[in-house]
Amino acid sequence: MVVDYQFKYQVANRPGGEGLLVCFSCGICTAGCPVAEVEGGFNPRRIIHEVLLGEREKVLRSKFIWMCVGCYRCSAHCPQDVEFTNILKVLREMAIEENYVDTHWIKMVEDIDCKTQKLRRDLIDYLWEKKIPSFQEYLDFYQEESQKLPWVEKQGEKEHD
Ligand code: SF4
Ligand code: SF4
Repeated sequence: MVVDYQFKYQVANRPGGEGLLVCFSCGICTAGCPVAEVEGGFNPRRIIHEVLLGEREKVLRSKFIWMCVGCYRCSAHCPQDVEFTNILKVLREMAIEENYVDTHWIKMVEDIDCKTQKLRRDLIDYLWEKKIPSFQEYLDFYQEESQKLPWVEKQGEKEHD
């Protein structure tokens, strides 16, 4: 693997990337991240560590830099005031500039985020109107409906701690 010692400085010199160099790898960002909770491969502490190590290609070609939902929880909890959410935005920009993904990726991921929120709203609306009486009934309903989507993991197929 080629190590790029300039990578961390290039990230840190961009608007949003400034705090990168003071990260001391405590992992608090990862512990509170809702995406890390459902996707074991997504690890904010590790992504920062890889940037600091100069693993440019590995980071920029990774699908994980597109998984953050921008809740800013990591930034709020970081003892070093590292704004990981904004660092990821810088990494996404660089991934596009360096042709690791097409330019439509940013728009597509923004659209997915918007549709995910709409789905959540619609599900709550539906459950509210149906007056679903118990948590178990909700789980059964969700399980049955989600099985119809081919790209949704089936229960037990891939579980992360
Ligand atoms: S919480 Fe802050 S200091 Fe700790 S690993 Fe995450 S970014 Fe680095
Ligand atoms: S902003 Fe992204 S990385 Fe930070 S806690 Fe939220 S989902 Fe996780």
